[in-house]
Amino acid sequence: MAKFDRCPSCGFNKQASLTTGAYFNVYECTGCGKKYCYECNNSNNGKKCPKCGSSSSKKAGEVYLKR
Ligand SMILES: [Zn+2]
Ligand SMILES: [Zn+2]
Repeated sequence: MAKFDRCPSCGFNKQASLTTGAYFNVYECTGCGKKYCYECNNSNNGKKCPKCGSSSSKKAGEVYLKR
């Protein structure tokens, strides 16, 4: 499982508003391979790929939040 500093797509990380050690998931579209998170535009809260619109995805990794 990969760890990211921020969402590889939109750059989101929530370090200002969540406690250290918290994380959110990064998803990878099984259709086009796009990685995205729930904050990405047009991802429907992480439920669909913002690039191709597919709702089929797997978990690509986690973004751990730093202090
Ligand atoms: Zn994102
Ligand atoms: Zn896709």
